[in-house]
Amino acid sequence: MSAEPAREGRPWRPSPLIAGSFLLHGAVLGAVVFHPPWWPQLLLLLLLNHLLLTICGLVPRSRWLGPNITRLPQAAQARGEIALTIDDGPDPAVTPAVLDLLDRHGAHATFFCIGAQAQRYPEICREIVRRGHAVENHSQRHGHNFSFLGPRAFRRELQQAQDTLAGITGQRPVFVRAPAGLRNPLLDPVLPGLGLRLASWTRRGFDTRTNDPDLLLRRLTRGLRAGDILLLHDGNSARTGAGEPVILAVLPRLLDQIAQAGLRPVTLREAHP
Ligand SMILES: [Zn+2]
Repeated sequence: MSAEPAREGRPWRPSPLIAGSFLLHGAVLGAVVFHPPWWPQLLLLLLLNHLLLTICGLVPRSRWLGPNITRLPQAAQARGEIALTIDDGPDPAVTPAVLDLLDRHGAHATFFCIGAQAQRYPEICREIVRRGHAVENHSQRHGHNFSFLGPRAFRRELQQAQDTLAGITGQRPVFVRAPAGLRNPLLDPVLPGLGLRLASWTRRGFDTRTNDPDLLLRRLTRGLRAGDILLLHDGNSARTGAGEPVILAVLPRLLDQIAQAGLRPVTLREAHP
């Protein structure tokens, strides 16, 4: 995985699995032409190939479909850096309080914002950037069908979010996170042209469903070390029994543990100079 920042126009290179899948399709086509009776076995081969590609798209941290950032680069690890990434906002009931908690701990975070949410609350997005954090691309609509899109729809969805977020904050996103981390092989070829790199995470707490701060903290800090990318949510956050967004209950303790471990929370951009 290269540590250099994304550049628009960077050529797309297929992953070994994708390149192999292209070759397999060519070979199957040739085999059908030269030996038609084999078609049932050849068809099965293609179906297995597509099953494998589908499974890889359902594993958010998989690199089989293309580059995928799951940890910070070596240099950032050596500096003791760690990344908090906060998805699905901005949310006026949660994000401002998250920003105050981060300020109190001198921590920087990366906010993967939904374009449509940003249009609703542009001032919060500007405040995120004003306080030294980064706003990155989490698609325009965060649709449940995202992982079923084709190349044109992927490009449209992500380009709209790029334009929305850059128009609001003045900064063009350079990282993208797929909604729920789910994708298909047609996403990766679209990203270089948009100047985006796919980023997932090292660990997540499932804080849109889990409302127990203790459990979340354990999930997020298990084996905590430099280079980790942690995933939390300001949008769609589960509420604790007391009705508090669970990220607000867990963040102070998480930031304390990070500080005690001698780690420094930075944005993905800061870690990838
Ligand atoms: Zn999301």
